Amino acid sequence: MLVEEYNLDVETIPCEPGAAKFAATVRLNVDISPVLPYLNRTLRGAIYTSAPSLGWKKDKRNIAFWPFKISIGDLADRAEAERVAREIVDLVNSTWERREQIEPSYETRRRPTGLELYKFLPRTNCKACGEATCFVFANKLAVGQARLVDCTALEEPQYTEQRAKLAELLDVDLPTGVQRANS
Ligand code: SF4
Repeated sequence: MLVEEYNLDVETIPCEPGAAKFAATVRLNVDISPVLPYLNRTLRGAIYTSAPSLGWKKDKRNIAFWPFKISIGDLADRAEAERVAREIVDLVNSTWERREQIEPSYETRRRPTGLELYKFLPRTNCKACGEATCFVFANKLAVGQARLVDCTALEEPQYTEQRAKLAELLDVDLPTGVQRANS
């Protein structure tokens, strides 16, 4: 087992519309850098950097893996922080235990910008997603505050190719529009 014990810090963050109420830091007494290339291979949508670090989005929640800590955002309360932290630590440990069956990936990737995403949206500013403009929606998509499926206009047949391209850029499954682990 790679991570045998950890400490959990939970803190409130300033409340803004749509902002998370709590964020947590899982403090580790072991360097988890060696598992990051294996997570990079198995977690869909993961973004690996040579720092090393690994960013991943699960259930609209940003998770960042660092050598001695894991940051978790968008938590409702301490109980949820404890549950999610346990799940993430279990994921690290199970991935480490399976490492001989996984080819590590050192491929680095960056998130698409709002402008890159905007080019493939319908750009009608129809507001069906709840945003005032497609550009606002694109910027929220880029930082994970909106989901591709929230743009219902993309379900129209003329946008099939654009929708597929957006799904590719965001590395999400259709029709759910959410990132999922491959494993
Ligand atoms: S639903 Fe889609 S097309 Fe309509 S404003 Fe939102 S992003 Fe633009």
